[in-house]
Amino acid sequence: METILAIDVGGTHQRFSPIDFKGNILEKMTYPSHRDISSSAFFQSLEDRISDHLKKNLCKGVALALPVVLEEQTGEVQDAPNLPFLVGQNLKESLSFLSVPWIVENDANSALLGEAWLGEGQKESSFCCLTLGTGIGSGLFLNGKLWKGVRGMASEMGHLKIDFSGKTPCSCGGHGCLEAFASASALHKKTGYSGEELYQKAGQGDSLALHAFEEMGAFLGRGIGSVANLLNIDLFILAGQLSQAFHFFYPSCHRGAQESAMKGPRQHLKIVQSKLGDDAGLLGAAYAWLQKHAR
Ligand SMILES: [Zn+2]
Repeated sequence: METILAIDVGGTHQRFSPIDFKGNILEKMTYPSHRDISSSAFFQSLEDRISDHLKKNLCKGVALALPVVLEEQTGEVQDAPNLPFLVGQNLKESLSFLSVPWIVENDANSALLGEAWLGEGQKESSFCCLTLGTGIGSGLFLNGKLWKGVRGMASEMGHLKIDFSGKTPCSCGGHGCLEAFASASALHKKTGYSGEELYQKAGQGDSLALHAFEEMGAFLGRGIGSVANLLNIDLFILAGQLSQAFHFFYPSCHRGAQESAMKGPRQHLKIVQSKLGDDAGLLGAAYAWLQKHAR
């Protein structure tokens, strides 16, 4: 059976999975990810883990989803709020140890491609996928293709400016971004609880948690409405760990989107929860590899 080794690197853990060409995930392995290590230690451990996996599984290639903003042409990492040691690294050089065909894709773009391949976006020619986690990632699928922008850095919806008071700093170094109001780290700053803890509490009817999700949804909805005005996209898929709380924040999110979108774009606007969950990024990275190397 032909397989690809897909790797999803997050701020807190790394997931390794061999995936066949039809999108079946054959095995799932998880390792811790460290924020405070050097780039050489990071790439050394990546090399060791990959070579262990390639010894066990005869994979045709390696597909990496990384939480970085990448300059497409040069392979240089421009920004990496959750893995800061990667900034300035040239991935074409750092990953030259790989002996099989490989590809690197931004993690949010990977989730989008997973949705386009096997998820909620399968029948759509244009949609947006938001990954709600520590930060907010987003990807755009326009006219049947991932939209990367002129230099590969498009679709940072988490950094839409929604507040200009200068009071709310964001992980990007700016202020007032959507991510600073509607991500797990924003919720943590506000309530002292992690996204997972808030999800548990909301399930028990805790009013602080329910209110936090309601506010988060309202901000998210405003961002979605603005993007719907800009692009006239009907479908927004919400993925990432925090999307498990969808039923808690959806009502205010829907309301916020309806209020901020103009009459035309809002008529067919749909906000749905991803059914691929955490696997979207792994699957999408594998799909990106197949598009590049298998045809
Ligand atoms: Zn920002």
